[in-house]
Formats: sequence, C-alpha cells, structure tokens
Amino acid sequence: GYTVAIVGRPNVGKSTLFNRLLEQRKAIVDDQSGVTRDRQYGIADWNGKTFNVIDTGGFVSNSDDVFEREIRKQAKVAMEEANLIIFMCDVATGITDLDEDVADVLRRTSKPVYLVVNKVDNSQRQLEATEFYSLGFENIFFLSSMSGSGTGELLDAVVSHITPEMGEATLETDIPKIAIIGQPNVGKSSLLNALIGDERNIVSDIAGTTRDTIHTHYNMFQKDFMLIDTAGIRRKAKVQEDLEFYSVIRAIKAVDEADVVMLLLDAEKGITAQDLSIYSLAARKGKGVVVLVNKWDLIEKATNTARDYEKELKNRLAPFSDVPIIFTSVTEKQRIFKAIETALEVYENRLRRIPTSTLNDVMLKAIEAYHPPVVRGIPIRIKYVTQLPTHTPAFAFFCNLPDDVKTPYRNYLENQLRSHFDFRGVPLKLFFRKK
Ligand code: GDP
Repeated sequence: GYTVAIVGRPNVGKSTLFNRLLEQRKAIVDDQSGVTRDRQYGIADWNGKTFNVIDTGGFVSNSDDVFEREIRKQAKVAMEEANLIIFMCDVATGITDLDEDVADVLRRTSKPVYLVVNKVDNSQRQLEATEFYSLGFENIFFLSSMSGSGTGELLDAVVSHITPEMGEATLETDIPKIAIIGQPNVGKSSLLNALIGDERNIVSDIAGTTRDTIHTHYNMFQKDFMLIDTAGIRRKAKVQEDLEFYSVIRAIKAVDEADVVMLLLDAEKGITAQDLSIYSLAARKGKGVVVLVNKWDLIEKATNTARDYEKELKNRLAPFSDVPIIFTSVTEKQRIFKAIETALEVYENRLRRIPTSTLNDVMLKAIEAYHPPVVRGIPIRIKYVTQLPTHTPAFAFFCNLPDDVKTPYRNYLENQLRSHFDFRGVPLKLFFRKK
C-alpha cells in the first residue's frame, strides 16, 4: 500500500490531522515501535482509495536538545518508510528554528513533500500563512485540522499518487491483542512499566489526543503481541464521577479492540461489582479472559491461601469460571511474564477449531452417557454437533426440540466440551438448531 507520513514539531496538530485522516474508516491504530512509542500507524480511506498513515509525533520531551534529535529521527524514518511526506507547521507560531531544521532534512529527499500549514482558521491567518512559501516547498496546503477545512484538497492531492497496482493499505491486525483492564490503582501502569520500562510514561502527556486506548507492539518469548492499555491517558476531569465515567468508557473500548482481556484485581480488595461487569461484558463479546490477582505480596499466606482464594473467586465469576487466575505482584515482579504467557495461551485456545468428526465422537458419547431430558413425553435427541466458522468458538447442536434444551443440560454440554478440549479462558457459545 501507499504510505504517507506526518512529520513536524510537537503541538503543530499532527495527531489531530492523523485522527481526521483516519476518521473515514475508524481503523485500528497500531503502535508499531514498542518501547519508544514514537509512531502510530493507521489506514485512511478517501474516495475508495486506501493508504497507510504514519504519525511520527508521539514524542514529548522537555529538553530542546532531545527534541531536535528526535525530530530529525522522525523525518528520517518518514523519508525511509513513506511514499509521501506531510510536513506540518503551525501558522500561529510562524516558522520556528525547528521547522527550518526539519525542512533542511526533508529537502534532501526525492519523495514528494507536502507542506501543510495548520490552524489556518480565518482570513488573517491566511495572510500570515504566505510566509511559509519561503521554506521552498512546491506543494503547500493551508488547512485547519481541527475544523477539517482544507483537508479535502490535501486528501485529493495525496490520493492522486495512488494507482491500483499499489494495493490496499493493510495493518498488521492478526497478532494477539491483549487489553489490560482494572480499577484505578490496581497496578496497570506498574505492570506496563515493568514490561516496557519507564519510557512509556512520556506518552501519557500528549496534548489534545482523542485516542482512548494505546496499542503497543511487543516481541517477547519469540512472540509478537499487542498490549492495549488505557492507563497512559489521564483525561482532565473536574469531578471524580467524570473520571470514573471516562475510565469505564475506555475500558469498554479496550475490551472491544482486544482478543484477550487481562483483568487485574487488587488481592486485598477482592473483585468489585465493576470488575464483574467488565468480566461479563468480555464474556458476552466472546473475548478471552485472564484474571490477575495483583498485590499478592500484601496478602498474608497460610497453607491453602491461593487455592481458597481461587475457589472463592471462581464462585463469583460463575457461570463462566474456566478461566486462568494468576497471583501476581507487579512490584516484586512475580509471575508477570507468566501472566503474559497465559494470555497468549488463551489467545490460542480461542482460535481452536475442533474437526467435526472428533467433535461428534466425543460429544455424542457424552450425550449417550447422560441423555437430555424427555419433554412432553418426547425425548430430546441430539444427532450432530459442529463448530461454527466464527471468530470465537461457537457450536451448533442439531436436535429435534431445540427450544427445550435448558440451562442445566446446556451447561453439561459446555463442561463436556471444556473437559475434552482446552478452552480455558474462552467463553463458548452453544446453539441448538433443528436440522
Ligand atoms: P493503575 O491506576 O491501575 O495504573 O495503578 P498503578 O500502577 O498506578 O499502581 C497503584 C499503586 O499500587 C502504586 O503505588 C503501585 O506501586 C502499587 N502497586 C502496583 N502493583 C503492586 C503490587 O503487586 N504490590 C504492591 N504492594 N503494590 C503494587
């Protein structure tokens, strides 16, 4: 696919433009770079043509020195990876030294560079914007990424470079996505920091971002995966209720975007009503789940503490209780890699497809061993089972009286499935159909 990179110094409005370009399509935003989180990838769609967009702007730092270095790096990355570069400036500040620096780097590329002067919201600003011709770029656009005025012209010009041979834009979306969810102070940020180091905190201060979740691409245990978190963004909220409201909204978004939800609980506080509602939401949406009982170091232990705790917790999680529970201490780095490994196992379990013949061998025997009930004098007969070609495991049982198979028997069938095949952490859907 065709790739466009947005470069420029911080606060010129790169993220706003990035979000606007992606708006048409609501693509998943992938953060490619792991530790430094200095790039965001997305797909834009304009008049039926798609292209990749790289926002190089995640970097926030206070030292001018670091700034300059980072921005040069940004520009270089853009020149390497992109087919076209959008160089963004801000009419409100005029041309700054940093802009000149970036321009110097960009003048060396043979790729097209579009100079975009942002925040051109009125005629006064239009006049002021003409100053930017002095940077010497042939293609110059004046726009307001906030209001969207002028972005149409920019997009028209961008897609004029795209030919059918370039192919569709694609994001790497088939890698496991794990959402880290939990109440405030349960240890989400600490977990992320333990996994990637403190540098990620830099991102929590991006000004004016509208993104509710952050995706970070990892490679551990020779495996690629994406962590989705909501911890880095602290919205300014005047009252506590607002804060909580937004944290729930973000949690729901993170669940939607994930394959596996890693739900963190505070060992001392136990599971809360809100944890349970997120848990059942994840189950309803067919997401894999791993439960982390964090701050386990604070619990005084006797012989069966973990076992008893787990038993109690599973009672609360019922009916969906075939889920891994891991006792972690993020601060003491206990079992946090185990937690990730387990989440990846759950991801694999969720992809599990049972061949129809195996499924029938096992399940028809189980049905034979314990028959469905007789209703109104007619025995319920299940003749055939098949797994449906869905994203999350779902099974169709073909029978004469589908509406008469009630919860107890349904649960028996689910338990049989779970005892023969590894679906730990994965909600199962069972359907009863007439042949
Ligand atoms: P978040 O709001 O979920 O991101 O929670 P934080 O990661 O900010 O953690 C809140 C507090 O709990 C911090 O003071 C952490 O140091 C502490 N904390 C996190 N994990 C653990 C743990 O496993 N054990 C103990 N004792 N404290 C922890």
